[in-house]
Amino acid sequence: MKISMVSEHASPLAALGGVDAGGQNVHVAALSSSLAKRGHQVTVYTRRDDPELPAKVQVAPGLTVVHVDAGPARHIPKDELLPFMGALADGICEDWAGDLPDVVHAHFWMSGLAAIQASRRAGAADPVPVVQTFHALGSVKRRHQGSADTSPAARAWLEPWVGRTADWVIATCPDEVFELKALGISKSKVSIAPCGVDLALFDGTAEPEPKPRTHRILSVGRLVPRKGVDLIIQALPHLEQAGFDDVELLVVGGSGDALTLEEDPEAQRLRALTKELGVEDKVTMRGQVPRDAMPGILRSADAVICTPWYEPFGIVPLEAMASGVPVVAAAVGGLRETVVDHKTGLQVPPRDPEAIADAVGQLLGDPALRADMGRAGLRRARSRYSWDRIAADTEKAYRSVLAAGLSRQAGEALEPLEGTAL
Ligand code: UDP
Repeated sequence: MKISMVSEHASPLAALGGVDAGGQNVHVAALSSSLAKRGHQVTVYTRRDDPELPAKVQVAPGLTVVHVDAGPARHIPKDELLPFMGALADGICEDWAGDLPDVVHAHFWMSGLAAIQASRRAGAADPVPVVQTFHALGSVKRRHQGSADTSPAARAWLEPWVGRTADWVIATCPDEVFELKALGISKSKVSIAPCGVDLALFDGTAEPEPKPRTHRILSVGRLVPRKGVDLIIQALPHLEQAGFDDVELLVVGGSGDALTLEEDPEAQRLRALTKELGVEDKVTMRGQVPRDAMPGILRSADAVICTPWYEPFGIVPLEAMASGVPVVAAAVGGLRETVVDHKTGLQVPPRDPEAIADAVGQLLGDPALRADMGRAGLRRARSRYSWDRIAADTEKAYRSVLAAGLSRQAGEALEPLEGTAL
């Protein structure tokens, strides 16, 4: 198949771990290259955010990234990108130049707007089928972040419109399916393809980096409040009371490109909290690290702690599992599915530092339990979350949407194909 991917803010080529660069970049990069390896022709369209970027980059056989001029060629926070989606659609149509793809797959709601516009404009009588993956939903973000949510107000109605207008929606976990239903998006055109993990990079064999204390617990992620790093810091005094007094919390993750860790307001807030709680000597903030450093860091941890307020999917727990490390996870969003309670880690209620301390204490106090859970995580990651398997699930969704288009042309009723829709 000839596949166009649209990922307006998250280039597969971008550095990972900055404020707007994270799981979506990893997802688009890995899914696109796995689809290309399966023999498809994949082109990823993303916004040019640097004047030096070439128009086209041939990343691998069958995989090209196109930088489209859409708004100023500099980093712009994703919540300010809406006005440029028309220009992104123009650039996509121009590149298609009449040679239309079989399917266009949009990542994030704004990419959906650009994909739908491009599909309608270029395809005229026979629009290119649009598949949508949201990665995160504004309705969920608003529920948790309230007035701190900086999404444009129009997201509240444009995002459900994208879901209802797209020909197919791929959710990354069952929790998202319920959220989509609440937005009025019919289950008959929704299937699930989770995020995957790079099993070649995270193969459980990396040399663990040395740790400075008896125990190391690890948090990895963009340094934004909703990732809940403050909750882990608040758990440290409880852990100390429980007798675990030689524990380091390593916090890996970045501020944006423009900020150093010292200048970053969230890093400052977290440091102030460590001082207030008297645990500053236990917390190391590493900042953003390159992707290939991650396996050795993950393997140095006794447990990886993922306790966000909410999480659409969460790739870090998969990377931890694939590294053979148990996970303490808040029972939210995609984490409820990936981390199997008492098998590959321990689930805790959201926003509960004491529960985090209890769970971490259980793991730190029982090396055999940690080893068992690490092994179970590794098995689960390998059997369920390879990118090749995710690409196959995604390919199935593309075939459903293509078959539905053919039956529509033939005047048949639009029935989802067996085994693909929910
Ligand atoms: N990551 C990284 N360097 C960092 C911080 C994070 O390479 O300094 C990677 C991390 O290993 C994972 C991704 O960024 O692959 C974060 O994905 P996740 O889905 O957990 O969170 P998101 O950023 O999408 O909210």
